Amino acid sequence: MAKRFIRISLGVKFRLLFGLALLGVIAAALVVPWYFIEVLSEQSLEGPARELTRLRLNEWKTLHAKAPTSKDAQDAGSRIFRLYRLGKETEGLTGPSFLALNPTDPIQGLDNPARKAWKVFDKTPDLDITWRKTKNDLGKPVYRCFRAVRNTPDCAMCHSPADPTKTVKPRFFPGQLVAMIDVTLSEDAAAGTLMLWTRLAFIIGGVLAGVLAMVIFSLISHRLILRPVRKLRELADKVAEGDQSVRSTLRTGDELERLGESFNEMLSAIQDQHNKLRAANRALDLKLNELGEANVALYEANQVKTEFLANISHELRTPLNSIIGFADLLCESEEEKIARFGRNISTAAKNLLSLINDMLDLAKIEAGRATVRFDKISAADTCRTLLALMHPIADKKNIELIDEIDKDLPIVVTDGGKLQQILYNLLNNAIKFTPPGGKVTLQARLVSPNNGDDPTELRLAVADTGPGISESDQTHIFEKFYQADGTLTRETGGAGLGLAICKELSNLLQARLVLDSEPGHGATFTLYLPLQPEQEESLK
Ligand code: ADP
Repeated sequence: MAKRFIRISLGVKFRLLFGLALLGVIAAALVVPWYFIEVLSEQSLEGPARELTRLRLNEWKTLHAKAPTSKDAQDAGSRIFRLYRLGKETEGLTGPSFLALNPTDPIQGLDNPARKAWKVFDKTPDLDITWRKTKNDLGKPVYRCFRAVRNTPDCAMCHSPADPTKTVKPRFFPGQLVAMIDVTLSEDAAAGTLMLWTRLAFIIGGVLAGVLAMVIFSLISHRLILRPVRKLRELADKVAEGDQSVRSTLRTGDELERLGESFNEMLSAIQDQHNKLRAANRALDLKLNELGEANVALYEANQVKTEFLANISHELRTPLNSIIGFADLLCESEEEKIARFGRNISTAAKNLLSLINDMLDLAKIEAGRATVRFDKISAADTCRTLLALMHPIADKKNIELIDEIDKDLPIVVTDGGKLQQILYNLLNNAIKFTPPGGKVTLQARLVSPNNGDDPTELRLAVADTGPGISESDQTHIFEKFYQADGTLTRETGGAGLGLAICKELSNLLQARLVLDSEPGHGATFTLYLPLQPEQEESLK
């Protein structure tokens, strides 16, 4: 939207527009009477003009009848009027008061007003008088009054074209325009002054009416519109400053009062909403506090649980190790039954120990007590050592353990023990859940996370040809105590903590652990391990 540079107040706008409109209205109202006054003043001339020209005509007629061509006849009017007359016999009788007109081109030699008057008379046979407003030699306004002189039966007595005995030339046809009397009438000073005063009165009246209308309009608009609008604006300003308790008190009994009432209703609604919002906020704050307290309580309970687990696990491990030791001794007994009992005790105790170890590990991680020691290690060596460790277990189950470890793997900065623990759990699971005759592969190679130029991650994948994991189980598989297939896990043992530990440990190593599996086509657990962890020094 175009930026507005000029801000005009409502009052100024009102006055400006109303003033302009008023000017137009007054001008329109005055133009008609003004015109009629002009017409009337001109019409008032007709009487004197007619009378004067009639007198002059008669005067000249008398003289002309007495001595048609005498010098006296011409001179008679020289001081008081001018005569334009058709006919050659007047040649030689020139002067300011007399002009002989050429019958073939009578207007030749006439000045402008006379020329126009002749044309008008010529065109309009009924018209006998006309006048033109003009200026005399001194520049004063004067009226030139013209009277037509047409051929009458009196004239025909001497100038008849039909009767050759009438020898006076020229001969005129009946009604023909034969001459024109021109009388100059100076504007009556009194009449001129009256006209001036009339015009002045018109102007003053118009101006007075305009000023009065403006004053009245200003008062009315100020009282009826501007003052209430200003009050409403002050109200809105107060609301904008945050005071919502103000209300409109306009009592104008019109739309503005209704506007004020609407404004009040709106304010009440806003205040209502505001109060509700404040109450809701307070309730929310309370809930947040409660939630915060519950969270703290939960955290503390979790800490207690974790500590309890850590302590109890520790206390359980010592007697369990003794039990395993004694059970192993029993296994060596020569009596088959005792040896079998010994093996059973040893297996159960080892499972229990493994569970306790897992719980202890998890409890430590969750309590934030797991220490991570980043060190430079050879990932290839770690992988091969693990494969060597797992070989006997795999062989026992007739599972082929495949080594796909790249030869030129670089040195990695990570916690070797934790990496080993993750890979051990994954390999152990793969062997555990793959049926005899299957394959377990350990892949290790360098990759770039976003297919960039420099590889910055190590991709360590444990793939098997086991039963795989269903899609619904995949979403929960990293949760604590979650076991996918009941029958399978019942056969293989375990408590569902291995993968949860793997996930937590990979987080500590800033690595990502992902599962890719299709039921019936094995499972692949892949660990993306950074070659160099970020902010290594801040990690414990
Ligand atoms: P545990 O093996 O002790 O039960 P884990 O957390 O290691 O606990 O594994 C959780 C569950 O995930 C297992 O019970 C098993 O159902 C499933 N699982 C893990 N690894 C595999 C795998 N390689 N193939 C098929 N299922 C697996």
